[in-house]
Amino acid sequence: MKIHEYQAKEILRAFGVAIPRGIACFSVAEAMEAAHKLNKLDRPDKLGKGGLWVVKAQIHAGGRGKGGGVKVARSLDEVEQYAGQMLGMQLVTRQTGAGGQAVRRLLIEEGVEITREFYIGLVVDRSRRRVCLMASAEGGMDIEEVAAKTPEKIRKIFIDPIAGLTASEAGDIAESIGIGPQAVKEASELLQGLYRAYDATDASLVEINPLVMTSDNRVFALDAKLSFDDNALFRHPELAALRDLDEEDPAEIEASKYDLSYVSLDGNIGCLVNGAGLAMATMDIIKLYGGNPANFLDVGGGATAEKVAEAFKLMLRNPELRAILINIFGGIMKCDVIAEGVVAAAREVKLGVPLVVRLEGTNVELGRKILAESGLPIISAANMADAAAKAVSAAAAAIPETPGPATGRT
Ligand code: ADP
Ligand code: MG
Repeated sequence: MKIHEYQAKEILRAFGVAIPRGIACFSVAEAMEAAHKLNKLDRPDKLGKGGLWVVKAQIHAGGRGKGGGVKVARSLDEVEQYAGQMLGMQLVTRQTGAGGQAVRRLLIEEGVEITREFYIGLVVDRSRRRVCLMASAEGGMDIEEVAAKTPEKIRKIFIDPIAGLTASEAGDIAESIGIGPQAVKEASELLQGLYRAYDATDASLVEINPLVMTSDNRVFALDAKLSFDDNALFRHPELAALRDLDEEDPAEIEASKYDLSYVSLDGNIGCLVNGAGLAMATMDIIKLYGGNPANFLDVGGGATAEKVAEAFKLMLRNPELRAILINIFGGIMKCDVIAEGVVAAAREVKLGVPLVVRLEGTNVELGRKILAESGLPIISAANMADAAAKAVSAAAAAIPETPGPATGRT
């Protein structure tokens, strides 16, 4: 589960991470009030000189700066202007997709005089079975490029779960990315706070990009991304309450109500599969045959006909859908149950796309019989490769002809 930057910053602050002061807002009036308030606060940490604010759009996607979702304001008039521009805009970043994401919340934050920007990330490294702390001197807005082109510029350490991140490890990594002796202690305390927060909240990701050094050699987390492991959320009701459904895909929200593992993708072949491994393999083989999956969907091992019907309806909501591939290996899941669910759902909603079915395993004959007698226009497939080939060609045939570009010549 993802949360907003301002929420992440509140949590990290409680773990001792140095964060500039900021106030979350839902309207221009609130943004103005926040800007006034930030200016009046006494400034024991002498952060900046006042009169400098940053207006930050709060959406779950990153890359906001480049999309116009982070602006430095040098006067209250500018705060008002930027807040007005951002609230309600569809912010497009490299992480949102072309449609962008509607901005409903802002963070008004004190402006910091940045001298250097670093990158810090914490994730689980599954092969090492440890939390990995990554750090780079090349922070700021292009870390993806650094990772792709010069991965050696990203330093890593793997944290012992019993000892945690020690002061000396934190100090070493801070030094390795070029944080000078004046700020090493402060930086290592910040890093230790990040690790404690990661551990205590059952996070799956903490990312600070940028961690900054200011003109007076102080360090602050200027951006904060925090995601939690969904499987541990039951232990943290206060974190689960931070979920913002406006930021999530409506189809995925619907799927979670039925306990279906569903992820929207940008292709046009819907996949209904039992088991996550088979679902991944199905998407791979669709790609191999030149197609693109519209979704990942694992109906699970013990699905009922109703659950299958809901899963089927969910896929059909997608306007890009051109074909459906049902790939079931009946183990615990019985093929006849799947067939009943598919038939029930197809009767309820209008099935406007070709349906390719590959069934194998428990009660397969019964399942095939139910489908054959349903009168649905089903294309049956002998095996996975056959199913993928048929789904890809059915989807290609279903794409409406688009007129070619006008050349002006006749
Ligand atoms: P995103 O990663 O979504 O683009 P960031 O929060 O990282 O958003 O902001 C983008 C850039 O804006 C940062 O790299 C930093 O240079 C600048 N910035 C962000 N917050 C502040 C702040 N409080 N003071 C000064 N500059 C800031
Ligand atoms: Mg950032």
